[in-house]
Amino acid sequence: MSVPESEIARRIAEYRRIIPEGVALVAVSKFQPVEAVKAAWDAGQLRFGESRVQELLYKIPLLPADIEWHFIGHLQTNKVRQLIGKTALIESVDSERLLRIIDEESAKAGIVTDVLLQVHVAQEETKFGFSREELLLLAKEGDLKTLENVCIRGIMAMASNTDDETRVRRDFAEAASIFREVRNCPAIESRKFDILSMGMSGDWEIAVEEGATSVRIGSAIFGAR
Ligand SMILES: *Cc1c(COP(=O)(O)O)cnc(C)c1O
Repeated sequence: MSVPESEIARRIAEYRRIIPEGVALVAVSKFQPVEAVKAAWDAGQLRFGESRVQELLYKIPLLPADIEWHFIGHLQTNKVRQLIGKTALIESVDSERLLRIIDEESAKAGIVTDVLLQVHVAQEETKFGFSREELLLLAKEGDLKTLENVCIRGIMAMASNTDDETRVRRDFAEAASIFREVRNCPAIESRKFDILSMGMSGDWEIAVEEGATSVRIGSAIFGAR
């Protein structure tokens, strides 16, 4: 393990101290061993983020049952069934087709799955997510109300991977603006649409300044992957 367990515990405590009240911390444990997750859990951390279905399914039975797992990676539609019922939140719903499949599989399982819609605001084309236009079209004209087995809780975004702070801030501001606009759409239950997930190890402070209600921090807690 790259970071000793005592240091993981210290970092969890430090983030709980410096992250403002009302902003949730998701500890991103992808590619980290279960011992590292356990060390963070021992320090009181309950929310963890994973980006691969197989890895998540492997870790779940080895770790405490009260962990709230957030799925944050690109989700292939053929993996949805395995994931349903295992997550507190699927943060990375990046297409309408994926949203519909999550709804169908959740209906079959008799549950409602909480999800975020991922919006693409970064300059890299490689990143997944809805464009602003696509998302607003879906929220305004899509038949979201017919999707009874998903609860759209908010938006997830990633900023451009750059040292240019102005660009990063602009990306987060754009995501926050989309968040507010979608929240005002009649098809969205605004009471429950309350999560704006943005910010990682290198840029979470800017994300919080721009309105994030949840940050996803991995390497700054667990070390390099
Ligand atoms: C890996 C990952 C993170 C965490 O990134 P760090 O730079 O390690 O904090 C956050 N969000 C998503 C979507 C990720 O894939």
